Amino acid sequence: MTRRIAILGATGSIGTSALDLIERSPELFSISAVTAATKVADLADIARRSRSALAVIGDERLLPELRERLAGTGCRAEGGRSALVAAAAAEADLVIGAIVGCAGLEPVMAAVEAGRTVALANKEALVTAGALMTEAAKASGATILPVDSEHNAIFQCLACSRGGDVSRIILTASGGPFRTASSEMMASATPSQAIAHPTWSMGAKISVDSATLMNKGLELIEAHFLFGLPSQQIDILIHPRSVIHSLVEFVDGSVLAQLGSPDMRIPIAYALAWPKRMPTPAERLDLAAIGSLAFESPDDRRFPALRLARQALEAGGAAPIVLNAANEVAVDAFLAGAIPFPAIAATVADALDRSRDSTPLSIADVLEIDRATRSRVGAAMKASCA
Ligand code: NDP
Ligand code: MG
Repeated sequence: MTRRIAILGATGSIGTSALDLIERSPELFSISAVTAATKVADLADIARRSRSALAVIGDERLLPELRERLAGTGCRAEGGRSALVAAAAAEADLVIGAIVGCAGLEPVMAAVEAGRTVALANKEALVTAGALMTEAAKASGATILPVDSEHNAIFQCLACSRGGDVSRIILTASGGPFRTASSEMMASATPSQAIAHPTWSMGAKISVDSATLMNKGLELIEAHFLFGLPSQQIDILIHPRSVIHSLVEFVDGSVLAQLGSPDMRIPIAYALAWPKRMPTPAERLDLAAIGSLAFESPDDRRFPALRLARQALEAGGAAPIVLNAANEVAVDAFLAGAIPFPAIAATVADALDRSRDSTPLSIADVLEIDRATRSRVGAAMKASCA
């Protein structure tokens, strides 16, 4: 029996890495569903190659084209938001949540509510609705397996724990392309400089998040919800080589770490084969060639996003949703050349300052706070550009 996998966000960086692993082990896996937003030709190719039973395109206007491209393959084609959500909840042994941004929240939540095992890369879903999602997982019996490399590393280290004996989690960060850049240089940074990540190859949004260190801020919040530790027990450590993917300190002073080459196929494989392991083509670590590993503390002054994320986590309620929504709008604006790089963190800080205290009690509440923040931030940006 093969393990049936649904990939939400199959055309992206995580989605294609997962497909690469699955295609190398056809005796272990089959594909039940693949989804994308607009890359209809890529989605059709993937569905055809992987013999997926279902392909869903988020943009419904592209459904006729998807149907045409899949004619005669036996793969069912669907389109639109509700089809995406239905695909996430459909029967599968593992659902890979690899949509980028808060757009992934409803599909991931549908998979969790359906009691699926979810390999979660889509950190924004946990950042915006972590409490609701972990509660829903408890109620439905769903398992959330972290794919984000740091959280996957912690998950692996915690397998050696008896529970209740963790004193601290240490999330490592490469520091991104501007780790040693001056504030002046960052003020004139271009999108292509910001997405040129020194160690990882990733989608555009997360690459910009890595440059601002907002990625690590989102991961701080993600770690809080995944592992149930307060902000004070989650530290950030800059480690430019990205060899140690994160560490767990235990009450006796022992520290466990997970190491590997910076290749997302390693954490994805861990989730695909869990609770076993499977081979991957990832480059093996040659520690003698690497020679030494360096560490440094993050610089809150040049990278205010980290402080903002910690502030949002500690405030709770709507704050992480506001942080995430403002960041998504600001990153899009930066990538479109509409605002300079430092304006990303400034936009998020401003949105947090203006946000009202509230506690989202449902996914509808989360989506409403997300929508309202996007509209407020978008209007403020237009006004300042006018
Ligand atoms: P990409 O931008 O490469 O891919 C995103 C995927 O989501 C694509 O399949 C895209 O479809 C789809 N998508 C985008 N918007 C929507 C939408 N509105 N509705 C439905 N589908 C949508 O992103 P990554 O693969 O880099 O990242 C995916 C997630 O994984 C992010 O949350 C990221 O933070 C996280 N992650 C990524 C890592 C990496 O190495 N890339 C590492 C750790 C975490 P289309 O192609 O049609 O636009
Ligand atoms: Mg990560």
